[in-house]
Amino acid sequence: MNIFDSLIGNDDIKKNLGLAIKEKRFSHAYIIEGSAGTGKRTVARLASAAILCSGEGSLPCGKCQPCRKVLNDNCADVRFLEITKVEQVRELRQKLYESSAEYDYKIYIITNAEKMNIKAQNALLISLEEPPPNVVFFLLTTDASALLETIRSRAQILRTKLLDKDTVFSYIKEAIRPSISDETLMEIVISSAGSLGYALDMLDEKKSNEVLLLRKNALELIKAILKNNSDSVSFMLSLSNQTRDSLKELISLCVTVIGDIILLKKDKNAPLYFFPSPAEPIELGNKYSLVKLLAVYDSLLEARDDLNSNSATALTLMSILTNSKKKGN
Ligand SMILES: [Zn+2]
Repeated sequence: MNIFDSLIGNDDIKKNLGLAIKEKRFSHAYIIEGSAGTGKRTVARLASAAILCSGEGSLPCGKCQPCRKVLNDNCADVRFLEITKVEQVRELRQKLYESSAEYDYKIYIITNAEKMNIKAQNALLISLEEPPPNVVFFLLTTDASALLETIRSRAQILRTKLLDKDTVFSYIKEAIRPSISDETLMEIVISSAGSLGYALDMLDEKKSNEVLLLRKNALELIKAILKNNSDSVSFMLSLSNQTRDSLKELISLCVTVIGDIILLKKDKNAPLYFFPSPAEPIELGNKYSLVKLLAVYDSLLEARDDLNSNSATALTLMSILTNSKKKGN
């Protein structure tokens, strides 16, 4: 078995990236974009192992020394970093030119790349424009549009996708073998809305309560936005004391919720990513026009952008109501 197969789903990425690395024609910078829990870190880790692999056949072999080090997160040439400020980028740039690599490439994996402020992104851009030889960057993000166009144009963008529930169910059952009933596992899988990462988290009870609360809030928020009355305003305000990151996570999940409703309105057999069954999204879809639903969808995307650019959280939440009303009527 190819080790790349330990990444579930995402067949395009596995095939194309795996081949590019094998033929040594990979890019010096990749942006890996996808919702939380869709395997961004796994893609970056497997690709890093494949790049440094000294084995034969399909890469990464998983057996050679560099592979084992990378896959155990124990390789000095592969670094996971979270960068927000320009000073951190300057520090990183210095390191790029130090020639202390153990293997052929130095690989930097920047997690939550959307958290880099504009100054930091501009500073990083210089390294992307004129990369030192044998350096590869992976920028992981839930939202590539939060990155400067100049950065996006210098990197290849890969998108990790949500998975259908049967894939997540059978993966967890076979690979993890949790000591819970099939019914409970299916409930967890459905609640995780296509995210393998969430589903794995939910095998832990504390995390599962957090995810359930997030799901409950996402559904309530969508209903509040669709109703758009005075109760909606109070509900929005009650959420505004959450941190920016948790609001972004909530709004991203809301995009999935409204996405289900819109797709079902167009096609009764569309695959669902949030709802366990079609009854509720069909009912919601019947109550509102497609124009209205699309206006809500757009307003949520706008709000997510605004949160990236440091707008006030309460104001951003309110703008979802005003924008969706303006466009949806
Ligand atoms: Zn190897």
